[in-house]
Amino acid sequence: MDLHSTPKTTIVIFGATGDLAKRKLFPSIFNLYQAGKLSEEFAVVGLARREWSNFTLREVVNESISSANDDLIEKFCKHFYYLPFDVTRNDSYINLDKLLKEVEDVYGIPGNRIFYMSTSPEFFGTIASNLKAHQLTETKGWTRLIIEKPFGRDAASAEQLNNEISQAFSEDEIYRIDHYLGKDMVQNIEVIRFANSIFEPLWNNHYISNVQITLSETLGVEDRGGYYDTSGAMRDMVQNHVLQLVSLLAMDPPIRLTPEEVRHEKIKVLRALKPVATDNASEYFVRGQYIPGIMNDQEVPGYRSEESVSPKSITETFVAGKLQIENHRWTGVPFYIRTGKRLESKTTKVIIEFKNMPLNLYFNGEKDTSNLLSINIQPVEGITLLLNGKKEGTSGEAVPVQLDYNNKNDDISSTPEAYERLIYNCLLGDATNFAHSDEVLLSWKYVDPILKAWQSDKVEIAEYESGTMGPKASDDLLAKDGNHWWPVN
Ligand code: NAD
Repeated sequence: MDLHSTPKTTIVIFGATGDLAKRKLFPSIFNLYQAGKLSEEFAVVGLARREWSNFTLREVVNESISSANDDLIEKFCKHFYYLPFDVTRNDSYINLDKLLKEVEDVYGIPGNRIFYMSTSPEFFGTIASNLKAHQLTETKGWTRLIIEKPFGRDAASAEQLNNEISQAFSEDEIYRIDHYLGKDMVQNIEVIRFANSIFEPLWNNHYISNVQITLSETLGVEDRGGYYDTSGAMRDMVQNHVLQLVSLLAMDPPIRLTPEEVRHEKIKVLRALKPVATDNASEYFVRGQYIPGIMNDQEVPGYRSEESVSPKSITETFVAGKLQIENHRWTGVPFYIRTGKRLESKTTKVIIEFKNMPLNLYFNGEKDTSNLLSINIQPVEGITLLLNGKKEGTSGEAVPVQLDYNNKNDDISSTPEAYERLIYNCLLGDATNFAHSDEVLLSWKYVDPILKAWQSDKVEIAEYESGTMGPKASDDLLAKDGNHWWPVN
């Protein structure tokens, strides 16, 4: 991240008493402040229903930060203001207008405002139209909107939400958060691809056999069962994070690194995705649900016994799929994706499997000889390349050798967290790592027919034991093509 100090700004957080604000937003803003990336003239206005005071909010902010520098924390917390707020009430917006003008006076902020929607998605539209109605977006500076996922629950609702927020904000003022796009290694995908002449010539269907993307979690639904049961892995992970990764991996090189050019290339990939029809969704997509199992020597419950989950739920906690991109570069190369909860390991990893040599001189036909490029996103960050070399002491036997470039743990702890990076980008007006409305809509249009097939229990929901890498049907999906999942641990 370049070290630019940000413009004088007020950040308005709707839902300041919530989980996201406390766990991610306050610590991220503090880290920017501590690193000298935030202008001294900034204010944060927290809004939520609770009758808190500035003092209560400052205490909560203080608790959310881990730093030994108490003086700095105290100085930082003084920039926080709280207003009890109901998103549906006019007087709330009138009070907000007054408070914003006051804090802008205190810090000499020229009307630059970020409105951060960290509240239940059902309120996003209401907030946007009220901001417009009360002229809170009409200032002498700039105004921007940061909006959290989920962005709709299908193409129709996403389009409606877009229409609502675009009454108050233009597309270039809207920053749709996909926190995967804030991760260092995700941003590194473009650098690896476009700054190394050894990869780009091979990055196509002449040399790549298949691409495998795994986003696995060990946790179950924890205390989010109520929300998750209405969402599922397709909406929670595939429509946004997985498809964003697919588009970064498959896009053509942009002519410039501007938000418009990068998004243009990503959108072309999403447009080239071969649609999956509702009738044959099962041929390309597998859904699964976790049942009890042993993890870390402890028995864990199945999904249907989790708190706030229906005992008859058919919500998927696992998805595996085969995506096809129909363009010159990718036709014939399957992009296999899988994501799920209560899996064996917490990993985000992309594996590019290259085609084998046409004539195999060194292996006896039983061993895998494929060259693999792994892009490790978490928990380890870096890349690994699997090559073949001569086995020492033999006359001509080959063995796989691994080249690693992975960040050590101490490097990772000093790399900025995704939210920190994204808030910083928004303060600087750089929308490259946020999702454009076209990307969101195209992604929904791709997953909608599959979700439609899964609305009833007629399509099998494959059970998988907690602590495994998903149902057998996920392995079968690749086996049909003569492929298999490469280990991710
Ligand atoms: P939360 O339920 O913990 O907090 C919601 C906040 O909205 C609270 O501050 C609450 O007071 C406020 N609120 C509710 N009704 C209101 C009203 N009528 N007027 C004013 N304020 C009202 O939710 P959260 O986990 O912080 O999530 C916030 C948003 O971020 C959601 O859209 C969620 O989907 C998204 N998100 C959360 C996480 C996470 O890790 N928590 C991750 C990704 C996305």
